[in-house]
Amino acid sequence: MLIDYHMHTTHSVDGHATLRDMCERAIDEGLTEIAVTDHLDGNPCDPGVGMFSAERFFEEYREVVDALGDRLTIRAGLEIGEPHEYRDTVEELAAWPFDVVIGSVHYIGPHGVHEDLFDAMPLETALEAYLDSQLQIARSGLVDVLGHLDYFQRYTLIRDLPPFDPERFENPIRDVLRAVIENGLALEVNTSGLRQKPGVCFPDRMILSWYHDMGGRAVTVGSDAHYLDHVGANIRDGMGLLREIGFESVAVYRRRRLKRIPLRKFD
Ligand SMILES: [Zn+2]
Ligand SMILES: [Zn+2]
Repeated sequence: MLIDYHMHTTHSVDGHATLRDMCERAIDEGLTEIAVTDHLDGNPCDPGVGMFSAERFFEEYREVVDALGDRLTIRAGLEIGEPHEYRDTVEELAAWPFDVVIGSVHYIGPHGVHEDLFDAMPLETALEAYLDSQLQIARSGLVDVLGHLDYFQRYTLIRDLPPFDPERFENPIRDVLRAVIENGLALEVNTSGLRQKPGVCFPDRMILSWYHDMGGRAVTVGSDAHYLDHVGANIRDGMGLLREIGFESVAVYRRRRLKRIPLRKFD
């Protein structure tokens, strides 16, 4: 058994492979269940704004499930950037039969985390705004999973800013984790950082340990693949980390309902 709960297809502006090709690769990689989580971004500065069509997605999704569904469980998901900032659009989408919705922060106002956020303001200010936005997502009631809590390390590291020290932001991070727990969300372990310069999961051991100590038990694991080669990448490493910290299960979703799978089933 192996699962990957975060990946993008050509329904995302930065996806490089079709839904069918991503699913075929998942089967080749020995995955048993995936969630396809294409971008829905509402920030007018995002190049993909207005691109996602649930109608087009589900048309293709149904074809692929018909063709490959006996070999791979394929869940229909979304990764929504700042969902609390355009609640009406997000609520309308809930009419479609999505299985899982990830909420992520990609923008602070006009500043992309991946673009000029860390050029536009001091690190401290940027991270306070970022964590505050995550807090609002966790409290919004719009999503099931909080995505890549500290993936901004990808972009601070290439700017010669000091390495991210979670302890310096312990209080606001714990506020986010508390909101995740109290609102019944799962926290994502995004393994993309392991194949990138930070070399760690987003979030890594310290924050995951805080979450566990605070009573957080719901976690998903996803590669955030945008290319075929990244489907399923480092998922076993992410699960190994969870096991070391003391987690006993990972979360999967069907029609927005969480189900836990014991981690030992992935041995
Ligand atoms: Zn993201
Ligand atoms: Zn993503």
